[in-house]
Amino acid sequence: MWGPLKITRMTESQLTPVSATHDTAAPDSPDGVEQEVRAAVHAGLPSAIADLAQLVRIPSVSWSAFDPANVRRSADAVAALLTETGVFDRVEVKQAPIPSRGDDGGAESLGQPAVLATRAARNGRPTVLLYAHHDVQPEGDAADWETPPFEPTVRGDRLYGRGAADDKAGVMSHVATVRALHEALGDDLDLGLAVFIEGEEEFGSRSFSNFLQQNSAALAADVIVVADSDNVDVDTPALTVSLRGNVTFRLTVSTLGHASHSGMYGGAAPDAMLAAARLLATLHDDDGAVAVEGLRSYTGAAEPPAFSEEELAEDAAFLPGVRSIGRGPILSRMWSQPTITVTGIDAPSVANASNTLLPSVSVRISSRVAPGQPAREAYEALERHLRAHAPFGAVIAIDDVDLGDPFLVDTAGWAASEAKRAMTDAWGAEAVETGIGGSIPFIADLVREFPEAQILVTGVEDPDTRAHSPNESLHLGVFKRAVLAEALLLTRLNARES
Ligand SMILES: [Zn+2]
Repeated sequence: MWGPLKITRMTESQLTPVSATHDTAAPDSPDGVEQEVRAAVHAGLPSAIADLAQLVRIPSVSWSAFDPANVRRSADAVAALLTETGVFDRVEVKQAPIPSRGDDGGAESLGQPAVLATRAARNGRPTVLLYAHHDVQPEGDAADWETPPFEPTVRGDRLYGRGAADDKAGVMSHVATVRALHEALGDDLDLGLAVFIEGEEEFGSRSFSNFLQQNSAALAADVIVVADSDNVDVDTPALTVSLRGNVTFRLTVSTLGHASHSGMYGGAAPDAMLAAARLLATLHDDDGAVAVEGLRSYTGAAEPPAFSEEELAEDAAFLPGVRSIGRGPILSRMWSQPTITVTGIDAPSVANASNTLLPSVSVRISSRVAPGQPAREAYEALERHLRAHAPFGAVIAIDDVDLGDPFLVDTAGWAASEAKRAMTDAWGAEAVETGIGGSIPFIADLVREFPEAQILVTGVEDPDTRAHSPNESLHLGVFKRAVLAEALLLTRLNARES
């Protein structure tokens, strides 16, 4: 394990690597090669962290209200880092069109610049696609940051800054891995590589599917490594094997042709708020578990790590006396079961409330779909339920539907077992298969475009990373172990027939 760093400035190279080599194996033996790779990862760490800090200085926020010149600058910086590795046949900064939504007059605009670097496989070796994104979330309220968001700062063993983890550390884990492979393997690097560093993941990956289609030959790979996820903790690596999908839509419940005086007709004429409240109450049972027939849970997952009621209450800031909802192990509720949440409501505000029976109420329903169930099927189950349970003959309308499929890794594939073995060796701790309660919709695009590829979701984050929040940070020990794991994985794939 790597002890805490005692540096205060990124320019100081006090990140002296500990020697991990036991120089016993012959240089050409598999063990000897891995020792060289380990040594190269250690030696390359200070410059990898310094380069990461330079990337963090570029405020590459991809949201439309922010200056796109910064995203362009960050793409150019990443392209330069990849070019300097000397292993790629081609490095380009590219954009793809954003699909027209129909309400924009068909005007075509381009997505944010992405970086694509490729080299062909040799001697029958597999090709690996390495994904990360170089764009970041906005800083939010600057006053909430202990140090400026775009001024990378090391405190203790963490590097603070917007994008220090999500996902510029993912970018640098790929760059550092490629550097170490090049140094340790030299001309024996036969692996095909495609590095795809997206520029608008934090803004909905709007041009992602077009980018995949336009560059499908360059991106085609046997294995795809998506370095944009989490680990169990700073000492325990995780391979993310499932992600929930999502279904969102607007539900409008209507009972009356117009508003009426609540004193006159109240008690006999059903108002839309009553109908909506009673309808929404049918979506869960008394435990707060989802009660919609046809909305399935995923039952194939390994037993999730223990996570107590107290930990949940602490992490999610339960008020005193508040209890959890649902049934079963807490992490299985968040990873393997569906959810239904009302995330918005259109009704008169309290300040504007008058004594009327509301004719119509709209709510936004946000449902997380368990791994294994297509989002379309989950949507149909929800729609069936809502229509069947509308009280008092209320009229139900649904529109503005958005669907994102869940994701499930075939953990029996050779790539997943190689990845777990590499993580275990690099971290010195058994790799854990984890789920993520959220959704990464672009993964469904990857599966659609490259159905044969084995997809590995790895990451450089840990529970204290606070991605998207003020004081985002990267644990530098996690970064080192993540780079080493990726380098060991690719070294082993470099010796494998595709
Ligand atoms: Zn990310």
